[in-house]
Amino acid sequence: MLLEANRMQGFAAALLRHRDALVEPIEPEGLEVLAPPPVQTALGIGEFARLGFGASLPPAAQRVGIEGDWLDRLGRLLEGSGRRTRLVLAGAARAPGDPERILGHELLLDNATWRLLEVSPAWTRYLVLDFRASAVSDEKRDFILRLPINLATATLPDHVLGALTAQFASPDAMADPPEAALPPIWERARLLGLIDRALRPRLDSALAPFVKGLRRRLDRDQDRLHRYHNDLHREAMQRAAALPEADPRRLREEQRVAAIGREYRAKLDDLARQYATRVSVQWVQTLELITPVHRFAVQIRRRKSDRTLLLDWNPLTRKLDPPLCEATASAERPRLVCDEALHLVVASALQPCEQCSKAFCRACHPDRCPKCGNQTK
Ligand SMILES: [Zn+2]
Ligand SMILES: [Zn+2]
Repeated sequence: MLLEANRMQGFAAALLRHRDALVEPIEPEGLEVLAPPPVQTALGIGEFARLGFGASLPPAAQRVGIEGDWLDRLGRLLEGSGRRTRLVLAGAARAPGDPERILGHELLLDNATWRLLEVSPAWTRYLVLDFRASAVSDEKRDFILRLPINLATATLPDHVLGALTAQFASPDAMADPPEAALPPIWERARLLGLIDRALRPRLDSALAPFVKGLRRRLDRDQDRLHRYHNDLHREAMQRAAALPEADPRRLREEQRVAAIGREYRAKLDDLARQYATRVSVQWVQTLELITPVHRFAVQIRRRKSDRTLLLDWNPLTRKLDPPLCEATASAERPRLVCDEALHLVVASALQPCEQCSKAFCRACHPDRCPKCGNQTK
């Protein structure tokens, strides 16, 4: 307990000093703070403040602990710092061994052909975004979602970059490449649009075990409720049936039957509320990772049209950043190519319209069916 108080005190003191506050330790387990205006605003304190971290407080000190909102207040002090890192990682001077084979392994298209046009050395810029997601129901689950985006090829090499993080510990530092060699940072709207699409399917799969456990407990509780009320209901019905029509006791039993039904429905509603799940996602930090790659230019051909697609082979992971489903941004492999723009998409993104049955591409038409105007979910 004492240790915790001291650790919190040490953390707060370091953070406050980092933010240009004057900090003096005072007894017992406290800090006296002279805070500049930004610190006053972030922490909601005056220019002079005393903070206490232990069981007993210094005179006139405010209590700071992990309960209450002090973690949020201290978090506000951290805002804007330590959340963005830039790293230039040199790959070994490796080149992909057999580009045709590598591509053949990654690019399986059911309704189109492809041809590798060129492989050339290039640089790329990944934004590796970390999000903290929380699912709150009758239980709470926190986890980190990592979303790596290759800004040159608009791919999301989830697994590739996962493996790469091992190398962050001992980076092979190297000089920055010229900015002109790097893909530009995207406009905010484009970046947010992709993040929005990409987070959903990844949240779903990260949450799947949690949701499965929840469903199992919900089913079990619903069963138990049903059995209990069903027995009561049946017994009351039997008692009612055994009594003559005009008997007032029979009316009472019938009222009881109705009350059991009402109680059962109310209990079901309670259960639904208890198991309802709220999911929130918060951005935590971004790593900008600059690294050399080998860029594959691939021509996609479908009927009489063609399109050139760029994919990067990363010498650090020795893998090709897999092409993204341009409609759902899911990690599933896109296997189909659309007629209109030759988008690479998963099969579900070319499904027939629910209303008019015309098949259409959800990357070309994200909001509504082009034939009948039926809105997509
Ligand atoms: Zn399309
Ligand atoms: Zn339609």
